[in-house]
Amino acid sequence: MLVGARPGEIVVTGSTTVNLHSLVATFYQPAGTRTRILADRLNFPSDIYALESQVRLRGLDPARHLILVGSRDGRTIDEVDLIRSMNDDIALVVLPSVLYRSGQLLDVERLARAARARDIPIGIDCSHSAGVVPHRLHDWEVDFAFWCNYKYLNGGPGAIGSLFVHERHHGLRPGLTGWWGFQKERQFDLALDFESAANAGAWQIGTPSILGMAGLRGSLDLFHEAGIARIREKSLALTAYLIDLVDSRLSASPYSFRIGTPRDAERRGGHLAIEHPDAIRIAKALRARGVVPDFRPPDVIRLAPIAFYTSYVELWDTVEILREIVDHGEQLRFAATRDLIS
Ligand SMILES: *Cc1c(COP(=O)(O)O)cnc(C)c1O
Repeated sequence: MLVGARPGEIVVTGSTTVNLHSLVATFYQPAGTRTRILADRLNFPSDIYALESQVRLRGLDPARHLILVGSRDGRTIDEVDLIRSMNDDIALVVLPSVLYRSGQLLDVERLARAARARDIPIGIDCSHSAGVVPHRLHDWEVDFAFWCNYKYLNGGPGAIGSLFVHERHHGLRPGLTGWWGFQKERQFDLALDFESAANAGAWQIGTPSILGMAGLRGSLDLFHEAGIARIREKSLALTAYLIDLVDSRLSASPYSFRIGTPRDAERRGGHLAIEHPDAIRIAKALRARGVVPDFRPPDVIRLAPIAFYTSYVELWDTVEILREIVDHGEQLRFAATRDLIS
């Protein structure tokens, strides 16, 4: 119910970037003139690094074989631009569902349909949508997907990742194999000839952290109880309220904040990008006042109100604190340089 998968289509394993590697190693099959991977310029860099190295591993040059579709406005990616780039030379498409900086929600159903019509496999990074936006990965016929469980899914810092492989690919031999991908009933026969598990479990590689899985299990029980439709409804109400507050209380001078996330509910995920030229210092001042944002270069303060535990009053208070920070120049006490993480 969380991502619209059938039971055998998901497995909890590895970590986001490692799962991306393992899935690309399976689904990227450059042949003849179809040799390129299509991705986008606004994706989280780890995904791009992984794609580049996968291209290199095939003896190809990323400068020619990794095509990155750009943004028209610096914040969002137009689905039309992506679909136009799905040419005969594309062997694989890998895109995020929600962009990590602006929070734009891409129309995954439309992109998957376009890729399928052109016979190109498509994989989706759901790190910023799993646990906050409903998906129908099976019905949309997405070939594969992967995500982390430590963002909206509350699996705890460094929680184990998840991956999805559509049923129609079950039985394939994964690009990166290990004994945890073997036929589950006979894994401990320890045979030397690899036989793929009959479901997404084939994409497990080695022993997972059982302690790490326990935290995720506890969190998933709560998601099951609440239901993703209700979580999405509450999340949209929270972000809509925050948009209203930013417009009415933070947009005029001297505050000059603006929303960098699409306003249309259909086109936004669970977080808001609030832009300000001095975002780097204001984010630090906000943290010092007990509100934890992310700063994302060059000018984004990322706020993610959570359906389970963020109240409307906390959003009001956050906006009042931002006004006070600017009123008193509190950000001037901080250096305009990057800290390691935020
Ligand atoms: C958070 C995130 C990751 C993180 O990768 P790890 O391997 O878990 O560190 C990767 N891709 C995207 C789009 C993310 O948002």
